[in-house]
Amino acid sequence: MLADYAVRVEQSRGRRYPEPQHPYRDDFQRDRDRVIHSRAFRRLEAKTQVFTRRYSDHFRNRLTHTIEVAQIARTIAAQLGLNVDLVEALALVHDVGHPPFGHAGEKALDAAMREHGFFFDHNLHALRIVEDFELRYAAFRGLNLTFEVREGIIKHSHDYAVDQFPELAEYLLDLRPPLEAQLIDVADEIAYSTADLDDGYESHLLTLEQIRSGVPIFDRFYSEAESTYPEAIEKLKFNEALKRILNRWVGDLIENTNETIRQAAVNSIEEVRSYADRLATLSAPIEQERRDAKDFLYKNLYFSASLNPEKIDAERVISELFHFWMAKPENLPSSYREKAAAEPLPRIICDYIAGMTDNYIYEQHEKQCGRR
Ligand code: MG
Repeated sequence: MLADYAVRVEQSRGRRYPEPQHPYRDDFQRDRDRVIHSRAFRRLEAKTQVFTRRYSDHFRNRLTHTIEVAQIARTIAAQLGLNVDLVEALALVHDVGHPPFGHAGEKALDAAMREHGFFFDHNLHALRIVEDFELRYAAFRGLNLTFEVREGIIKHSHDYAVDQFPELAEYLLDLRPPLEAQLIDVADEIAYSTADLDDGYESHLLTLEQIRSGVPIFDRFYSEAESTYPEAIEKLKFNEALKRILNRWVGDLIENTNETIRQAAVNSIEEVRSYADRLATLSAPIEQERRDAKDFLYKNLYFSASLNPEKIDAERVISELFHFWMAKPENLPSSYREKAAAEPLPRIICDYIAGMTDNYIYEQHEKQCGRR
């Protein structure tokens, strides 16, 4: 049962190129499936989330992170009476615009672009992928996704000003996105903040004592787990504590969003869109808790000296390859050389690099720049 403020597939603004209805899948289900069958989605498997393969094969990569976000977001959407199929499509597509090497790669690619007066933004890049780069259909370029999925790709995590991005005007930039897109951002934050505590601990970059003293809510739940399961091994008590944090944050997001919607007296998708603020939010105390955990992760994990070799590598590989192709565009693959006739060369090189997996960019770097 959909809530009054949910997106209804029969009211979708539709696709860029009209297509006949599928006999037994609606348009959002088809969009979800188109994302799953895309090359960009498959490449997520070989892209770093936080930890490279140097650490372990059982840590999250961008694909498993994406699946975790989809799981959390679906659960929340069902409880709120939102359109679960749209939410799933948005969750599965939310990270396809990320370059290799995680956050470090994004920074390095942006820095290389800025030298030429451009910039790199993974949401805008994701839109280019689904609108243009994916070639699966004879009738059109891209995946021809519905308006609501394209809008969610752009608007799920932050707002773009219409005067700065006139090319995005069709996405109603002065309006909020539907709740289905709003919740992706919070589900993403919840997913990675808990998962990175887990992988950080498993990698021994974070110790139990460090997490207990740096993340008070973890300490509280770990103590509870200790008294409930005094005989259990440390990792299982760790898992118990983490599971309780996840449930607490997800439960709060559901309750607080319900309450915010009630207080705002929002009863339709139009009212969601025109409401001044985002409605899918954590309550203030839980938001603070999440931020504290995130700050802890930044200080002790993402910015830790142990992950420096990865970052230095990412910067070096991306910047050297970028400069190499700027100087020798004739060494680009022919499809990219052709594109450079219509678009600025830095943009074309950026598109090429952003699409690469961690493995492939190392291969290219060795081939073009001669050393690793
Ligand atoms: Mg993400």
